[in-house]
Parts: sequence; structure tokens; C-alpha cells
Amino acid sequence: MVAVPPPSSLLDITPAAAAQALTDWAAAEGLPAYRVGQIAARLWQRPAGSWDEATDLPRPLRERLATRWPIPRLTLATRQVSQDGTRKYLWRLADGESIESVLIPSGIRRTLCISSQAGCALGCVFCATGMMGFRRNLTPFEIAGQVRELMLEDPAEKPTNIVFMGMGEPLLNWEAVDVALTILNSPEGLGIGARHITVSTVGIIPGMVKLAARPEQFRLAISLHAANPSRRLPLMPIEKKYGLSEVLDAAAAFRKRITFEYVLIEGKNDSERDASDLAALARRMGAMVNLLPLHPGGAPDLTPTSPPRIREFAEQLKVRGVEAVVRRSRGLDISAACGQLKVEVEGRRRQQPAHQ
Ligand code: SAH
Ligand code: SF4
Repeated sequence: MVAVPPPSSLLDITPAAAAQALTDWAAAEGLPAYRVGQIAARLWQRPAGSWDEATDLPRPLRERLATRWPIPRLTLATRQVSQDGTRKYLWRLADGESIESVLIPSGIRRTLCISSQAGCALGCVFCATGMMGFRRNLTPFEIAGQVRELMLEDPAEKPTNIVFMGMGEPLLNWEAVDVALTILNSPEGLGIGARHITVSTVGIIPGMVKLAARPEQFRLAISLHAANPSRRLPLMPIEKKYGLSEVLDAAAAFRKRITFEYVLIEGKNDSERDASDLAALARRMGAMVNLLPLHPGGAPDLTPTSPPRIREFAEQLKVRGVEAVVRRSRGLDISAACGQLKVEVEGRRRQQPAHQ
């Protein structure tokens, strides 16, 4: 039998797997069993920035932990605060790639929008991340670690809700997202309720099947953006591979109510006909609709639908019996939409000589 090598980071595996690895290690090191729980608690529940900070553990143990189980970190590259309180974080990863998270406070809710990939291969025409192309998949730690870093900054900062609406297509990185969902949700991890965690996808069918098979009630948002294939294809090249009707069939396997995300773009998907097509689909699926004003940063050639037309579009859905919410554009002054910060910083870096 081939022995399974021990994992290199306790933060890249599920809390249960981390507890097992720690139990094995503690036994081999001759540590008392109660230390396992103490150490494990500093992974996600009461995160430590480094083992040195875990002063509830004796110093020699902290030193052994630092050697055997170093704590990876995301390095904060930029933090921007919008006038409306939205906060955008740009994190530098160990290999120099960067990703963003956006924290959106709203009443008692604190929603963190997290990234699942550096860049994205899918090239939706309105999206800044799509414009960057695909860089690489994130590891489970790099995904859930976006929440962890916020808690390290201030434990009171812990988000109440998580949406996979930052950079990347989560269901094209299922292996890592699968583990990250367990970390986010399990009581030994971050303990965020499954109904407060939303996975947003353009409709990657094999990933949707896997997500639907999990026992927890994670929420699903489908980025629809057009309610018929001929209108959708020019906006979203993925329509060629996973067509709308198959995507909706896969969405029907979800036990919970799903949400359609719909970015309104003038002349592309905002006619009365578009509204009636969308209403028909939403009613068939029992879906709620989130209408999003186009964030101009993602697509210089596209025009956002005007606010009065957005309200009218929402009305056209409502009179057809569909629950539609117009999402306020948050953090406009800091370009806090999908992948825009990285593009901005890189653009600036290209424009400035290195010594500045
Ligand atoms: N790849 C997944 C999740 C990340 S994108 C997906 O597409 O669903 C998250 C959301 O940001 C999507 O609904 C996407 O349509 C939206 N988005 C992307 N670019 C945008 C822009 N320029 N303005 C407004 N919303 C945008
Ligand atoms: Fe990728 Fe989502 Fe952006 Fe499309 S909208 S390019 S799937 S991140």
C-alpha cells in the first residue's frame, strides 16, 4: 500500500482532514491529545496570523508548528474604501498573481464577494476579469483565506454572507471550491450558514451537478444576462458549449430557489421583448431576478441601460409575476465590480515608470 503523504498546509484541506493530520502529527511528536483541538481552533475559528501569535500555546510548540505547518497568508496589495462603505481588497498571492475581494456592508449584513480563479477563461464581453484572460485556479486556502484575512484584520469584520462573484468561474475550479465550501460552512471552519453562501456561475453543467449533489443548501445564482440563446451568445461565448436550455435543466435539480443575475446593457438585452422572455424563464424556474446596472469599467464599448429604463424593465418583470430586485451599484467610485481592481492597478503600473 502506498502511504498518503501528509498535506503541506492545514489550510488547503477540510477542517476534518486538518484535524486528522494534526492528530497523526501530535501522536508522532508525543504531544498530549488535547493540543490538537487548541491548534486546530487557530486555523479558522480564531485565526492566527502566525503561530507566534497563538500565545495560548507554549513557545516550543509554536516553533515546531511554524516549521512543520507554516501558516500561508494572502498579502494585502491595495485596500480601497468607497464613499458608500464598500471595501475592495487586492491580494497578492505567493506566486505573484493577484485577486480581489469586495466587502459590501448593508445594514446588519456584511457580504463578501470572493474570487475563485485568478482571471477567467470565459470572456464575457462586459467583464473586466474576462478581459484579463485566465491566469490560474486558486487553491482552497486562497479562496477561503480571503475571509480569513479580513478576520485577522479585525475579528468583528467577519462576513455574514459570501458570494462567489469576484474573479473567475467557480464551477471551473470545482475541486478547490468544493473544499473551500466545506471550510466556509463547517462549524470547525468558518461556520457560515450554507444558505448564506451563494455560488454564481454562467452555467458550467458538470459543476452544477456536483454542487447540487452536496447535502448542504448552498445557494445558486445563474448569470443569465439574456433569456434566449441568440441574444446570449454575443455576450457570453460559453453559450456555445453549455446552451441555455441545458443549463436551466441542470438548475432544475436544485432544491432551493435560484437567482438569475442579469446585467442590463443598452440595446443588447434590455428591450421589452427581452423582459418578457426573461419573465417567462423566471416564472418557469420559480427564480428571482437580480438586475445589475452595467459597471462601465468592464466594457468601454458597451453602454449601461439608463436608470429609468432599468426601473421600467424591473416593472415589466413584476407585472408578469416575477420577483425582481434592482441591485444598487456599490463602490462605483472604486470600480468594485468583477475583476476591475487588478486591471486598474496593472494599467496604472504600466503607465508609471518603476521608480515612482
Ligand atoms: N464567473 C461567475 C462568477 C463571477 S462574475 C459568473 O459569471 O457568474 C460575478 C457577477 O459579476 C456575474 O453575474 C457577472 O455578470 C457580474 N459582472 C461582470 N462584469 C460586470 C460588469 N461590468 N458590470 C456589472 N456586473 C458585472
Ligand atoms: Fe468569467 Fe464571470 Fe467574468 Fe464571465 S462574468 S468573464 S464567467 S468572471
